[in-house]
Amino acid sequence: MTGRPQQLAGLLHVVLGDQPAARYDCHRCGTTEGPVTGPRPVASFVEHVRAVHAGRCPARATT
Ligand SMILES: [Zn+2]
Repeated sequence: MTGRPQQLAGLLHVVLGDQPAARYDCHRCGTTEGPVTGPRPVASFVEHVRAVHAGRCPARATT
């Protein structure tokens, strides 16, 4: 597998099912956000990561 440019420089893990869960590992600043569990928290967490972490990522601010 070759790397592709991504909007998020990290891994967003989302598990769906009876107990949805999500976690985000930022490869730039090394921060792990989450995990959160539950349908509503997971949905808002994904939005949070995309909207908030991308803007406040400390590694991003240095470039
Ligand atoms: Zn980051």
